[in-house]
Amino acid sequence: MSQDATARKPVASDFIREVVERDNEKGTYGGRVQTRFPPEPNGYLHIGHAKAIVQDFSIAEAFDGICNVRFDDTNPDTEETEFVDSILQDIEWLGYHPENVYYASDYFENLYEWALELIRRGLAYVDDQSGETISEQRGGFGKPGIESPFRNRPVEESLDLFARMRAGEFADGERCLRAKIDMQSDNMWLRDPVMYRIRRGHHHRTGDAWCIYPTYDWAHGQSDAIEGVTHSICTLEFDSHRPLYNWFLENLPLPSDQPKQLEFARLEFTHIVTSKRRLKKLVADGVVDGWDDARMPTLSGLRRRGYPASAIRTFCTEIGTARTNSRHAIEALEAVVRRELNAEAQRKMVVLRPLKLVLTNWPVDAEGQPVVEYFEVANNPERPEDGTRQVAFSGELVIESEDFAEVPPPKFFRLSPGREVRLRGAYLVTATDVVKDEDGNVVQVNATYDPETRGGDAPDGRKVKSTMHWVSVPHAVPVEAALYERLFTSPVPGERTGEPLDDLNPNSRELLPNALGEASIAEVAPGQVVQFERLGYFAKDPDRPGFFHRTVGLKDEWAAIQKKQGK
Ligand code: ATP
Ligand code: MG
Repeated sequence: MSQDATARKPVASDFIREVVERDNEKGTYGGRVQTRFPPEPNGYLHIGHAKAIVQDFSIAEAFDGICNVRFDDTNPDTEETEFVDSILQDIEWLGYHPENVYYASDYFENLYEWALELIRRGLAYVDDQSGETISEQRGGFGKPGIESPFRNRPVEESLDLFARMRAGEFADGERCLRAKIDMQSDNMWLRDPVMYRIRRGHHHRTGDAWCIYPTYDWAHGQSDAIEGVTHSICTLEFDSHRPLYNWFLENLPLPSDQPKQLEFARLEFTHIVTSKRRLKKLVADGVVDGWDDARMPTLSGLRRRGYPASAIRTFCTEIGTARTNSRHAIEALEAVVRRELNAEAQRKMVVLRPLKLVLTNWPVDAEGQPVVEYFEVANNPERPEDGTRQVAFSGELVIESEDFAEVPPPKFFRLSPGREVRLRGAYLVTATDVVKDEDGNVVQVNATYDPETRGGDAPDGRKVKSTMHWVSVPHAVPVEAALYERLFTSPVPGERTGEPLDDLNPNSRELLPNALGEASIAEVAPGQVVQFERLGYFAKDPDRPGFFHRTVGLKDEWAAIQKKQGK
């Protein structure tokens, strides 16, 4: 498995690694370790899947094994090639290269043969009852199951009916194949679970070749066994399926050693949802622009937003592997993103809501043209090796509207008439007066600069209370920016009403179409993340020219939360 090894920390051991290690010591699988990441191609991958991917691949990596991707494509109604493609792309982006890409649908014939084998062994039967009746008869905790009247039909009859199910002789839902296990088991999954349903739907890979489709439980463990998976790692909700997973495998002529299912807790965060069904609804309802909208917790959304893949890997590794479900603060993930971007992102000056600032004493040259000066600034003060660049300065500038107040409120130390501030790396300037439009809005601030303060410091040592970013208008590049708030206002979406979509934040995106950036902003590559000084980290959209998404702000909200919690 070749992977870029950068930013991969050594991983602390956990209960899953311990099982793998023990198996290796005992030689259970002849020292082999093979895992798989098994997405259903019915949506885009989200941040929760990243945890599973990191888990599956890093365990294989740690034990010199292999990890494959297997598409769990057993439901023709919801699966699409678009999803297959996006999933493969997202896994690569995250930094992992599957040894092989497999599809459960490639095993349909094998699964069918194995189903026949179970029927022959008296361990499966065709049931003529409706799905509704079957679920009613299943009973519940403390409520006994009821055996189907077809449970003991002759093997020959089941074999015949099952072949005819496949041949398309029956309508959808008219019959199904069930495993014959134990209708009184305390484990509901063992109460004669359904293995095949009749379902006429066009499958994205097998087309109309099949009209019966295996259920998850029937397909999953068998696919693991066909591929030679040793450790089949999945999330906690499958814990109760494990006896069924084992039952099927124990009753089949396996080509290799029986794989072992191991479960861990799902990764969940505050303020987001990771259910594909709900994410799909956000897309369908037009709440967001698509699966890869920068507000979505999908990997493609986070990528557009500017989250480095390495930050996601680091987070998933650092939180370790748990066996109890919990919700992580989204701020904790953002803190890792900020930490990495702080180290790597180049600094730029961009004014999001421009207010004109004219220096009335700015000189003109011999031809009467305004003078242009250049200031050398560090590309990233955290990383001197990134060098410096020249930023143009003139007498016609823009500053952030919110950095000026005609009548400063208490504790406002930025620019106001009569007050002197520093224009970052350039000069000290003092506002003199303002120009207003017909409605009385300030549209221009006039100021004077002190030529003795080149670089931003006064020779007499006088201090100013504020340093502000700026952009020179004749050199400015138009920029569009999007600022984001949480997509869901509640930390636990749906906590109040049970419906997460009730907690949608109607103001999750603010568009700023008139921002202006320093000239070098034009050189930022699509997908690259830079720091807009004083404003946060911004990712250039891969598709829309001149458009930037705010990845995260500069303030470490996670540190504040931890402090409040006394950590
Ligand atoms: P959803 O409920 O969102 O549809 P899923 O579990 O059905 O998710 P799959 O495509 O079947 O999605 O998942 C592929 C793998 O990713 C499975 O092994 C699953 O357990 C794992 N996975 C899915 N969601 C999470 C999560 N939030 N945290 C960790 N692993 C996850
Ligand atoms: Mg699933």
